[in-house]
Amino acid sequence: MLSINNLHASVEGKSILKGLSLEVKAGEIHAIMGPNGSGKSTLSQVLAGRQDYTVTDGSVQWLEQDLLAMPIEERARSGLFLAFQYPIEIPGVSNAYFLRAAVNAARRHQGLPELDAMDFIQRAKAEMKAVGMREEFLYRSLNEGFSGGEKKRNEVLQMILLEPKLAILDETDSGLDIDALKVVADGVNRMRSPDRSMIVITHYQRLLDYIVPDYVHVLAGGRIVRSGGRELALELEQQGYGWVTQADKRQP
Ligand code: ADP
Ligand code: MG
Ligand code: MG
Repeated sequence: MLSINNLHASVEGKSILKGLSLEVKAGEIHAIMGPNGSGKSTLSQVLAGRQDYTVTDGSVQWLEQDLLAMPIEERARSGLFLAFQYPIEIPGVSNAYFLRAAVNAARRHQGLPELDAMDFIQRAKAEMKAVGMREEFLYRSLNEGFSGGEKKRNEVLQMILLEPKLAILDETDSGLDIDALKVVADGVNRMRSPDRSMIVITHYQRLLDYIVPDYVHVLAGGRIVRSGGRELALELEQQGYGWVTQADKRQP
């Protein structure tokens, strides 16, 4: 589904990703952990196609296409969901309007009929209940005046409504409380399916108490230095990242 090969990327002339490789197959959940500043968010920004991030080497295959050559909107329409894609506040554009436009763009891409306003509102309301959002949020301007937790719920709502093939969640918000964490985890767990994959980027082991990943990877110094099963996350919690990143430095 997603195949990242020897990816190198830099920001403002500074090299951040230094040969990152990762293979994600349909149905798998991968957790990427790693110390602060190791390049986790840079990886998601590069996959999202943010302008200030320059790929200097390597390749990314997505559904048999060259992801790095795809226009940003095309990445989203083809079923790649990045949780922080729409953190912007847009006064005057309601959450409902924005969400329906995004959902219908994805549906057109898949050759599905568009949802009319009534169908969409009905579906959205049912899902909002599940993520603990009040209906009034449909009619508020996108993200305007949303608290951190409300933005997070809205993000999960977007993911659920968009039904992506691959969702990448970068849990950068250190202020995330346990309720918001559970909303994210419940959303991910409900979306789990044999033909959908997820990459959960986090430095919080506790998120992985709720989302059980198939694979855990440690990103350090711009590369994946260790991969394993969920037990790796538990080891990291007990021992910190030092033993992994130290071991990596001894390698030639
Ligand atoms: P992580 O998400 O693992 O904490 P980041 O990918 O955010 O790490 O950052 C990796 C490194 O890249 C850090 O040294 C950070 O300062 C630098 N960096 C990230 N984004 C930018 C940017 N837009 N401009 C300059 N430096 C950046
Ligand atoms: Mg960081
Ligand atoms: Mg980060």
